[in-house]
Amino acid sequence: MSAPLLVVRDLTVTYAPPRRKGSLGTGAALSAVDLEIHAGEIVGVVGETGSGKTTLARATVGLVRPAAGAISFEGKELGVLRGRDLRDFRRSGQVQLAFQDPLRALDGDLTVAQVVAEPLDIVGGLDKAERRRRVDEALGLVGLETSFRDRHPRQLSGGQRQRVSLARAIVTRPRLLFCDEPVSALDVSNRNLVLRLLDTLRTELGLAVVIIAHDLSSLAGVADRVAVFYRGRLVEQGPIGEVLARPAHPYTALLTASAPSVQLEDRLHPDQLRHPLGDTGRTWSDGACVFASRCAFAHDACDEQPALLTVAGSGPDPTRRTAACHVADAWRTQLDPPLDRLDPQKEAVS
Ligand code: SF4
Repeated sequence: MSAPLLVVRDLTVTYAPPRRKGSLGTGAALSAVDLEIHAGEIVGVVGETGSGKTTLARATVGLVRPAAGAISFEGKELGVLRGRDLRDFRRSGQVQLAFQDPLRALDGDLTVAQVVAEPLDIVGGLDKAERRRRVDEALGLVGLETSFRDRHPRQLSGGQRQRVSLARAIVTRPRLLFCDEPVSALDVSNRNLVLRLLDTLRTELGLAVVIIAHDLSSLAGVADRVAVFYRGRLVEQGPIGEVLARPAHPYTALLTASAPSVQLEDRLHPDQLRHPLGDTGRTWSDGACVFASRCAFAHDACDEQPALLTVAGSGPDPTRRTAACHVADAWRTQLDPPLDRLDPQKEAVS
C-alpha cells in the first residue's frame, strides 16, 4: 500500500475554559488520536455532537493549534511550519474544508462564480482568464453548468448550494478534502446525489475525502473506512463493511444497533449494550475509558483508558482494524440476553 497522505499521531486539542456562559471551551476536544488517510479513499468520521470529529478537521487545516501530537501531510510535519513555509502550505490549497452550508454565511450579493473563486484569492498568482477557467472547471466537476455563474446562493436549492460549496472546496485542486456533515440538511435524493458526487471526485481527481457525519447509515455505500469518535477519543476504525457488520467496540455496536437501515451480522438491541441502570453508578477516574459510565461491560480494568488495539479483520491489511476496548469483540460472550435468545421483536429500535 502507498504511503499515507495524512498521518495524525497522538493528536490532542484542548479548548481553554469558557470565559463566559455559552462560549466555547470544554477542556480536551481530542485526546491522543492516531489516524491515517490515503490518497483516493473515502473515510467516514462519525460520532455524536462534541465527539471531536470537527475539531480533527479544523486542526488539520490549521484553524486550531494542537496541544500535543503531530499532523503530517505528504510526509511534511505541519506543526513545525513557520513563516514562509506555513504561508506556502496554506496558499497551496492542498487541504480544504467544506463546511456544512458556508453559503448561508456569505454575502448574499456575491454570485456563484465569486463564491467559488474566493479560495483562489489565497492561492494567488492566477490571472483573470485562469481564475475563470478554474471556476468553470470546478462547477463542471460538481455537475453545474456555467449558466450558474451569475446566480446568487439564495436562488439555489439545497442540493445546488451543497454542490456550489463543493466546487468552492475543490477549486484549488486539493489532495485532501474534509466535508463537514455534507448531507445532513438534504432530502434523500439530494443526499444520494452529493454522496455519488464525492465518489466521482475521488475517482476523477484521486482526492482523499473525509466525510464527517453523526450517523453511520449515511456513510454506508460510499465510505471505504470509518473512524468512530466518542468524547474526543477514536474508539474504533476499520473497513466500513467489517465495522458495520461486526463492530468491535461497544459504543460502535450501540450506534449500529440504533441505525435501523444498517445491515448487521449480529442482531443486537441497544438495551444489550447500555448499562441496565443507564449509568454504572460508579465513580471512574479521570483516566478511565471514555465510555465506562454507559457501558454494559464495564469492569475494574476499564478505570484505565485502553489503547487502540488491532482487531482481527478479513481485509488485505488486517492491522487497519482497531478498537479501544479492553474486551474488544469478546464482550459478545457477555450479552444479556445472549445473541441466540434475543427476541426478534426487539430488533426494532427505540
Ligand atoms: S474498555 Fe471497558 S468500559 Fe470501555 S468500552 Fe470496553 S468494556 Fe466498555
